[in-house]
Amino acid sequence: MSRIVGIDLGTTNSLIAIMEADGPKLIPNSLGQKLTPSVVGVEGDHLLVGMTAKEYQVSHPDRCASVFKRYMGSDWSVTLAGRKMSAIDLSCCVLRSLVADAEHYLGEAVTSAVITVPAYFNEEQRRATIAAGQMAGLKVERIVNEPTAAAIAYGLHEADSQKTAVIIDLGGGTFDVSIVEMFEGVLEIRASAGEIFLGGEDFTDACVSQILNQAGMKFEHTEMQEPLRVSRLRRECEQAKRRLTNEASTEVRLPNSQGEIEPDAPRYAITRETFDLWTKSTLDRILSPIRRALGDAGLKRQEIDEVILAGGASRMPSLIKRIEELFERPTRCTINPDEVVALGAAVNAGILDRHESLSEIVVTDVAPFTMGVEICREIGGEDRDGYYLPIINRNTTIPVSRVERVVTRAANQSKVNVSVYQGESRLVKDNQLLGSFEVTGIPPGPPGQEIDIRFTYDLNGILEAEAVIVKTQKRAAQVFTRHMKNLSENQMKTALDKMQALKAHPRDEEENRLLLKWAERLYMELPHRERNRLDQLITGFEEVLESQDQAQIKIFAEELGAFLKAFDSFEGEQGDYGTSPSDE
Ligand code: AMP
Repeated sequence: MSRIVGIDLGTTNSLIAIMEADGPKLIPNSLGQKLTPSVVGVEGDHLLVGMTAKEYQVSHPDRCASVFKRYMGSDWSVTLAGRKMSAIDLSCCVLRSLVADAEHYLGEAVTSAVITVPAYFNEEQRRATIAAGQMAGLKVERIVNEPTAAAIAYGLHEADSQKTAVIIDLGGGTFDVSIVEMFEGVLEIRASAGEIFLGGEDFTDACVSQILNQAGMKFEHTEMQEPLRVSRLRRECEQAKRRLTNEASTEVRLPNSQGEIEPDAPRYAITRETFDLWTKSTLDRILSPIRRALGDAGLKRQEIDEVILAGGASRMPSLIKRIEELFERPTRCTINPDEVVALGAAVNAGILDRHESLSEIVVTDVAPFTMGVEICREIGGEDRDGYYLPIINRNTTIPVSRVERVVTRAANQSKVNVSVYQGESRLVKDNQLLGSFEVTGIPPGPPGQEIDIRFTYDLNGILEAEAVIVKTQKRAAQVFTRHMKNLSENQMKTALDKMQALKAHPRDEEENRLLLKWAERLYMELPHRERNRLDQLITGFEEVLESQDQAQIKIFAEELGAFLKAFDSFEGEQGDYGTSPSDE
């Protein structure tokens, strides 16, 4: 049986890891990097994934997709080079690329995985994640909440200490807060709360919007009319945001409508204070989930022993300051916040694989939402629909199975429609409909015929509902047709066929491909006088690539790489580009 890998399928970056004898290990991709950008591009009939697609996106935003995790479980789709792709399709592309990296690294087939999701992902988003895994040829052994995975990675080192910790996880697109009790190898999640539309990307977008405002433009209008200007400006702002974690001030250059940065491009100075002011209302949104999680766990801020940070965007000084003021203690971030979730996922995979070193560890998690059904109430002698009967309350430890009894309202009522919702409001119209099913064959009789509705919420955070007519013990269908759509065999096959039409480039060519995409992107941005030199270098490189002469390819690649590093002011973005896979 193949080993189970741990995958952090992130909004901006994804990682894959495995449990080894001496602890969890991140697996490098074909460029030797641990972070694979969650970006997918289509060039002709070839698929680009990761850093190469991210470079391609700056010059060809219409052929690339990113931040699609935000649309998991919805009907959203995007057309890339004439191919319609859903968030599941795009996630599947990223997963396939990660699996190929793992297979190359481990030298064996990879068929099973633990995949992490934001704690606040709803049922539909979890099912969509499982479907993406299945499409990528994986058996998804477990869906694990991201902050839980982070807690596991931290908990592993401190199996003998006893404490209550809060995990603040601000990724690219989502925010989660979880409260965890750690004692003697047991990690008990007490409460989770979050926002699925709040992440580092929103801080970047706030910055893009402010710069456009200052230049007399409106974000949405400009994005539609001048997509190249916005995609290039977004990149500028992303880099500025990162620089501001270490520097007090920086500059952003405004690209022209073609996305080019001319020598006399307008420059906007941004200090840390300006950035904090621009993003204050975005940052304020972390407070309500924190309050909710503390309330559900029945704890005061002062009762938290440790504050752990996870997610790349938790590096922002304004976030750290706000959290430290709130909890009146320093935060802890001893494991790289980009990597901690994937490392925890690998440990979780190791627990499922019955890895010897992990036999003492027990992890329990909670349901992040309340789930229930619609009921009708008698108000002033009149029956009124639309009320919510919670069956599983939020932050109940999982797995859990709960029953509530409902009754028929009319004489000789032969059927009932069971509508299943998730959410915290007392009226169903303010909650999210998950699906509905009918209970038929209720025997004739007076009103008040009893029906038991059972909800079972499993360790993956997947809900099953069933209804039983108490008198006859007849069971009703318990599946949500809307959800099954994601998993139907036919749909899976069609989606797979569509993906198979796209070829992946050979792994060992990935570095050269990235170099070309990087060069093409820089070409767009350079002033004319340097463009000619770069043009010659690109053409020379393309020619030697055709010749297949490996020694020449290496020489030309080095020359081109040196030029790019010298002229690209954002070369840091390439990370450890060009280095050989690390064996860390
Ligand atoms: P993740 O989804 O956990 O990989 O988080 C990625 C997010 O972290 C993106 O929105 C990045 O912009 C953000 N991020 C990464 N490094 C930094 C940094 N040094 N300062 C601010 N944000 C960062």
